[in-house]
Amino acid sequence: MKSDIEDRTTTALQSQVTGGKPNEASDEQSSFLDELRTGPLLSGADGPLAVSSADRALIAVFGSGLAVVAAGSRWSPEVKAVLDRAIRSDLQIVRIVESESKIILAVYEKHAGDGSNGGPKGEIERQRELRHIISQAAVESASDIHIQVYPGYCDIRIRVHGRLRDLSNRSAEEGTAIINAAFAVATDHGSESGVSGFMKGTLTRASGLLPTDVDLIRLQYSPTSGHRPSLVMRLKYAIKKGETDIAGLGYLRQQVRDIGIMRRRTSGLYLLAGKVSSGKTTTLQRILNAMIREKAFEISAFAIEEPVELEISGAVHVAVVPRSGQTRRQAFAEAVKSTLRSDPNVIVLGELRDEELAGNALELAMTGHALWSTVHSGSALGILDRLNDLGVAPWKLAEPSVIKGLIYQRLVGTLCPHCKLSYRTALARQAISGAMVEEVAGLSGRSPERLFLRGPGCEKCSSGLGGRTVVAETVLPDPILLNHYVSEDRTAMREYWLRPVEQGGVGGIPVMHHAMIKVGRGTCDINEVEEEIDLVSSYRRDYPFHARRLAADLKRFQS
Ligand SMILES: [Zn+2]
Repeated sequence: MKSDIEDRTTTALQSQVTGGKPNEASDEQSSFLDELRTGPLLSGADGPLAVSSADRALIAVFGSGLAVVAAGSRWSPEVKAVLDRAIRSDLQIVRIVESESKIILAVYEKHAGDGSNGGPKGEIERQRELRHIISQAAVESASDIHIQVYPGYCDIRIRVHGRLRDLSNRSAEEGTAIINAAFAVATDHGSESGVSGFMKGTLTRASGLLPTDVDLIRLQYSPTSGHRPSLVMRLKYAIKKGETDIAGLGYLRQQVRDIGIMRRRTSGLYLLAGKVSSGKTTTLQRILNAMIREKAFEISAFAIEEPVELEISGAVHVAVVPRSGQTRRQAFAEAVKSTLRSDPNVIVLGELRDEELAGNALELAMTGHALWSTVHSGSALGILDRLNDLGVAPWKLAEPSVIKGLIYQRLVGTLCPHCKLSYRTALARQAISGAMVEEVAGLSGRSPERLFLRGPGCEKCSSGLGGRTVVAETVLPDPILLNHYVSEDRTAMREYWLRPVEQGGVGGIPVMHHAMIKVGRGTCDINEVEEEIDLVSSYRRDYPFHARRLAADLKRFQS
């Protein structure tokens, strides 16, 4: 018996072949058609899975991961051979449907006739090249690929552990052709502004270009002066098994405990701040996955974000699609309202970027829901200022049942243990100043043999770095802290947060202290910390109260 989905596929396929519109052009069906059309015909003559002309009556494989096989031949040796070949070439088959041979043959004719099989031979070649570049980047766990065309040549660089480095070079023409090839198979692309020509797009599995560990790639194209195109591709990796909790990301034990307390609560507002690429998405994703698992899937969780970044098993993703005449903001507000009617326990909002969303978030938190979101801010306590800027009234901020958790995080590179240099060696090579050695050694109480700098790089690492680790601040606001905030006594608020618990404070650890603890442990490089966070000397000068706690925190945590 055929399922409904198979019937719709066949209808969509027929209409694609005949070029006709489906009879009922429902939204569901047209999106289904789009899905079919997004991928090239991989089993076509020029495709990576080209099949013999005899087999064309039996199977067609699309970039979307769809394989259409002739009725009754699913287990035939010919079909099995093609599917095996697909798996060996790392092409994921996500759905197999049956259809009539004549429809499958017509698909091949259609694609041969109008060149819609990813275009002419040159383009297939470019896509193959792009696929190769993407897999090279993925092998290195790169976060981004930069393709920059200059007059006469093109640089291809990848960002690994936060740092850019060269991958390869091409001619300017090849570079431009590769950029075009990416957009040829991208979905939801379009000019953000017709005048400037900035373009965005997404490469999904349907593009046939992604290795198995990459979920999707976001494209951001910027035209630069003198027609020198530039493309940045951001890779989003699939969650690996076991990567479902924040342990292992680099938080201190007391921060993990704070986040655990936030996670167990079922009402209030929880906010995460950090700059772009500071690992916020990963943290939020892991917190929510752990929360849903802990509560044995007995809570209803909704995620409202656009574009979808979070992968949360057990949560409902609410689409934010502006109808005609509706702004993105209105679409968001509508999605929030409809979520509220769906009996939610936990709601995740992509980002509180305007007053309306901040207002919605506060309302949700004040009506007994747990709301998690991200905001732009330079520190955990600074999130309160950001909410204030977004029009949240101070009395709401002072209400202890509302703001229940603040997290701020950054990512800093970790030293490759195989080639890191001790301060003593670095000093001899003049790679570090004597003043810096004195400062770090003095603060951490460690000898220069036990403090390290980034090495030259070896076969086990990427330019001396072994990975990246979280440095963070967590705050569980209490009435005293919030009172200091609303009475505008920032100094008192910060001092209270920093003061050790045994002296009546909260015992908070600022991000700088967390980073310096990692320097003291020999995990991180002082240069990277100064680049990412602040110069140690300015920090001690600008925050005298913090500076007094810094040495104490270092001694307390780095053992
Ligand atoms: Zn190394």
